[in-house]
Amino acid sequence: MKEWEKNFRQVKPYTPGEQPKQTDVIKLNTNENPYPPAPGVLKLMKELDGTALRKYPDPEAGALVSAASRFYGLCEDQVFTGVGSDDVLGMSFLTFFNGDKPVLFPNITYSFYDVWADLYRIPFETQRLDENLKIRKEDYFKENGGVVIANPNAPTGEVMNLSCIEEIIQKNQNSVVIIDEAYVDFGGETALPLISEYPNLLVVRTCSKSFSLAGLRVGFAFGDPNLISALNRVKYSYNSYTMNTPSILLGAEAFKDRDYFEMTRKKIIATRERSKREFRSLGFLFGDSQTNFIFVRHPGIHAEKLFSDLKDTGIYVRHFGSPLISDYLRITIGTDAEMDVLFDFLKHYPGIR
Ligand code: PMP
Repeated sequence: MKEWEKNFRQVKPYTPGEQPKQTDVIKLNTNENPYPPAPGVLKLMKELDGTALRKYPDPEAGALVSAASRFYGLCEDQVFTGVGSDDVLGMSFLTFFNGDKPVLFPNITYSFYDVWADLYRIPFETQRLDENLKIRKEDYFKENGGVVIANPNAPTGEVMNLSCIEEIIQKNQNSVVIIDEAYVDFGGETALPLISEYPNLLVVRTCSKSFSLAGLRVGFAFGDPNLISALNRVKYSYNSYTMNTPSILLGAEAFKDRDYFEMTRKKIIATRERSKREFRSLGFLFGDSQTNFIFVRHPGIHAEKLFSDLKDTGIYVRHFGSPLISDYLRITIGTDAEMDVLFDFLKHYPGIR
């Protein structure tokens, strides 16, 4: 090792789901929305001219902050925006978790949390899910340097009810509690109404799933103005121009069409419920997912083998290497037609039925 290489930051990066080069695949591996973004977004994208690229963007991303605050009925000083919720969450870890006590999050959850904690040298302690893969609220009633809960949780899809979330916030008035609501538009209750009551609560959202804008990279944190200005101070100490102009303008446009948002959201929920019936009839086991994916296992089937056999036929799903969940596959809800192709394949798969 070269002398200067010893000074490299040692990190174990997050592994994102595969983005295959071919386009003729059924992609159920990264929880993208199978429907296009709102028509107004696509129209505006065509109308953008060179100015949107030639000039630096608005560092405050004002148009986007204002559109989101109107959509959610909040004040602008309660809104922070970033390059997808990954950027917002990473910035939040950097901003709020600078103590000596461990930050708490579940042992099975979004696998980026421990990566950020390691990157920023934040002590953390994971809490075991119960035997039904549910979060136990009591595990978060002890001393800590912060709490992070994805609700609904990923990759389990399980929801914690709002009264339990509120109890966790109440018992942690000395640390920042982050509720990651990436999937809440597909089920579960949002903690957003609680942000005006609890100055230590930060609710994180994304336009990647329910707004069909994963490629645009737009995410938010909502919370007390004090939390939002702390996030902005860190952002302006790192990169003032995180949000590019097309993302600001197109993201803002997406919030103008509530009807389209509601229509696609409901379509996905309906396909999910139908998919649960299909999976059940094929002998799969799974919890009551309230997200745009289902976390399934089958007693007679080796999950990793099924994962690669599906991939060979052009159906991409997600398998996680962690031994705790290696029997499971996380399957994103696609269109009804895409799910039909999946179920046709599964019906003829050895070991099923
Ligand atoms: N939180 C959870 C729980 C997620 O599953 C994801 C998607 N990978 C994210 C946050 C980040 O999504 P994005 O950066 O696209 O907003």
